[in-house]
Amino acid sequence: MSDNLQVHRSVYEVLNGAQEPGPRLIANWLGGVLDAVGKGKPIAYHPFTTFSEIMVALDVQPICCEAWDMVGLQVDPDHAIKSIDTAHEAGIPPELCSFDKAIIGSVMRGTMPPPSMIAQSGMPCQNAYITYQAVSALTGAPLYVCDTPYNTDEEGALDYWVKQYKGMISFLEEHSGKKMDYDRLREVLEESNRCVEYWLEAMELLKLKPAPHSGPLSQGSLAGMMGFGTPEGTAAMKALLDELKDKVSKGETAVPDEKARVIWFHFQVFWDNTLMGFMNELGAVVPYVLFDDFRVEPVDTSTPERMIRSMAWRALQTPMGKVGRGSFDAFIEDLLYAVDEWKGDCVILGAHPGCKWVTGAYGLIRDACRERGIPLLLYDVDLVDRRITSAEESRTRIEQFLTTVIDR
Ligand code: SF4
Repeated sequence: MSDNLQVHRSVYEVLNGAQEPGPRLIANWLGGVLDAVGKGKPIAYHPFTTFSEIMVALDVQPICCEAWDMVGLQVDPDHAIKSIDTAHEAGIPPELCSFDKAIIGSVMRGTMPPPSMIAQSGMPCQNAYITYQAVSALTGAPLYVCDTPYNTDEEGALDYWVKQYKGMISFLEEHSGKKMDYDRLREVLEESNRCVEYWLEAMELLKLKPAPHSGPLSQGSLAGMMGFGTPEGTAAMKALLDELKDKVSKGETAVPDEKARVIWFHFQVFWDNTLMGFMNELGAVVPYVLFDDFRVEPVDTSTPERMIRSMAWRALQTPMGKVGRGSFDAFIEDLLYAVDEWKGDCVILGAHPGCKWVTGAYGLIRDACRERGIPLLLYDVDLVDRRITSAEESRTRIEQFLTTVIDR
């Protein structure tokens, strides 16, 4: 497979000179990947539900595959679509999640550097399971999948999960030829603990009414996918928090007259950057996006055993990983919690067609919201592929819904 990294090299060139911490975080990650490609250093693929601290501590270059394709959109809006089409032409079924089709297609097109190894925690859904198997088959890279217990409250389930996590460290050691230095891992985890502390504080500020910010806390999810345990990831999150604090101290709000608070209970629509702004124009703010919701304790770094246990537990709380892997009750509970805590007036769930486990449970979501009198908009919008539901259609659905909510 040929190297076809021009799109990402271009993003790197654009961002590399930036001074702002957010772009610097992306540039640092891309620079590390391009350096690893140039020097033939090992690269480990991982999904967004598997944080990269173990790889950072082992000095193995991580690539969060879902993030790789979304970064490509910055210079080529068709980047992911081209990869999806490649996957379709190769016979990958259209029903597979478009994040995952893009990953498979990008591997086939050579627009993502090939992995030396793949480490995956089995979350959030079966799309991810099969995708990383397909990537392993395409590239020949060894694959390790942590088997996630269905119910982690069951006796022995957490111990089983921790064992899976230990297996992942052994796998990465074996295939990188490196040995884990637990003092180095402690440093990396203390860095990511700082990042999480800022992240949680920022999420708390979004509970203020009126809200100082509307839409995703991009630095949180970016730091989680590209820079967990690195100073760049922490700096990006801190910059966002400082910005929010500054706005709060000056009394600045996301919209001048907050008429409705929207709980956006899914990931953002990655190709439609102005959608949140459109809601602001209608007088609505979005103080909560599911992708940002990462309610965790700091990792206990006192001993190697506690580091692994604590990391393993925290991995189970990954945004979407937490609510997507077991009983659907967790999804409903978190949705209602978000409405209460972030003072939502309504919920919009733009469900991604790949998430069959969400669309199959629409009835449960409707019932839960109806029982509590929470206005709910459920509609299908692909988060990666803009050909499924157009930007105009999204806006028409959302405007009709928000008009009703605001007029209540
Ligand atoms: S949870 Fe939904 S968006 Fe995430 S990988 Fe699965 S199908 Fe795709």
